[in-house]
Amino acid sequence: MEINAVRGTRDILPDENIKWQYIEHIVRNIFARYGYTEIKTPIFERTELFIRGIGETTDIVEKEMYTFLDRKGRSLTLRPEGTAGAIRAFLEHKMFASSPLTKLFYIGPMFRYERPQAGRYRQHTQIGAEALGSINPFVDAEIITMLINIFEHLGLKNLSVELNTVGCKECRPVYRDKLQEYLAASENELCEDCKNRLTRNPLRILDCKVSSCKEIVKNVPDIADSLCSDCQKHFDSVKKYLDLVEIKYIRNKFLVRGLDYYTKTVFEISYENLGAQNAVAAGGRYDNLIEELGGPSMPGIGFAMGIDRLVIAMDDQKISFPKEEVDVFLAIMGEEVAKYAFNLIHILRKNDIHAEVLYENKSLKNQFSYAGKIGSKFVIIAGENEVLKNIITIKNMETKQQSEVNLEEAIAIIKAQVDRLKV
Ligand SMILES: [Zn+2]
Ligand SMILES: [Zn+2]
Repeated sequence: MEINAVRGTRDILPDENIKWQYIEHIVRNIFARYGYTEIKTPIFERTELFIRGIGETTDIVEKEMYTFLDRKGRSLTLRPEGTAGAIRAFLEHKMFASSPLTKLFYIGPMFRYERPQAGRYRQHTQIGAEALGSINPFVDAEIITMLINIFEHLGLKNLSVELNTVGCKECRPVYRDKLQEYLAASENELCEDCKNRLTRNPLRILDCKVSSCKEIVKNVPDIADSLCSDCQKHFDSVKKYLDLVEIKYIRNKFLVRGLDYYTKTVFEISYENLGAQNAVAAGGRYDNLIEELGGPSMPGIGFAMGIDRLVIAMDDQKISFPKEEVDVFLAIMGEEVAKYAFNLIHILRKNDIHAEVLYENKSLKNQFSYAGKIGSKFVIIAGENEVLKNIITIKNMETKQQSEVNLEEAIAIIKAQVDRLKV
């Protein structure tokens, strides 16, 4: 019996990988412009890190983690998100001691046991970034503008930015109480999950997807009316900075995000054609998380975006991805010239030319048709005649012009035609 990929996981085949590499390339360049450097952390961590970091009452920790015991009985978890691990590393290596501000990014797989659907996988790849050390709203707005910059470079259009604040240690409990009181009146109409959330984590009811819950939260008190003056000022500044650079956003009072650690700014960038799973990037500020994970009292903010969904959105907008082009195909005529051909293709490749060859002995016609299929710009014929006369027969596949030249000339002809995309 055939063994297939596990439900919720998938293979990224070469044609799709071209798209992933392109996205990563663009993103890495832009991160560099903003001073973010890459960190790689392990795929699995101690389970406790996520319980403390993400929050015990979140869906992720309660229902979605891949947790297992290792052979010594220690509880480990495949990382469901990237922030906890990045901060664990930041603290473990005391990165805060050498710089007042640390800006990190990562690219890698995350694991969540969720119901698989379009754009949602149990293993999905995230690009994430964290700016650690600044409380300034400048950073909040800068991170959102950086994301917009990334999407513009990728050619993505029609994205919407949603923005909210979830307050801080001081003002959120006040709002929490108000919200609880308001929702308690309709307790019986809430879904089972939300009945639970009512006492444990009422803010999460605000983004419940169940329609009866959506109806109930329609007129809930707005957190904007409960903010302390610090949170109010912070939120106003973020909005002002975004206005300044003409980034459009929608204030969404229901946006709370699924993680407990957020404070003040939360945001989500979405593309509506993606359907139910329409967020392409999301994040927020977490001013207590570093301390809660055992570090110094230090603010932070970050975001993550899913490559899987970015590809779907880009395909939906028919954005083309640059493909590696074949410069020359080497047609080998007869086994006698194999050594000559082997040496020739080696020299071409050493000259940074993308050269392809079919190893099996095929007719010239077959080899030309293959060269056409892979879109090779030139064909070089390696036959007995060429070996004897010590010449290169090269054909331009577009102009059909064929000429006999020496090796240096052949290389020059090919290189003059190659405009390999340098992004
Ligand atoms: Zn506050
Ligand atoms: Zn609900």
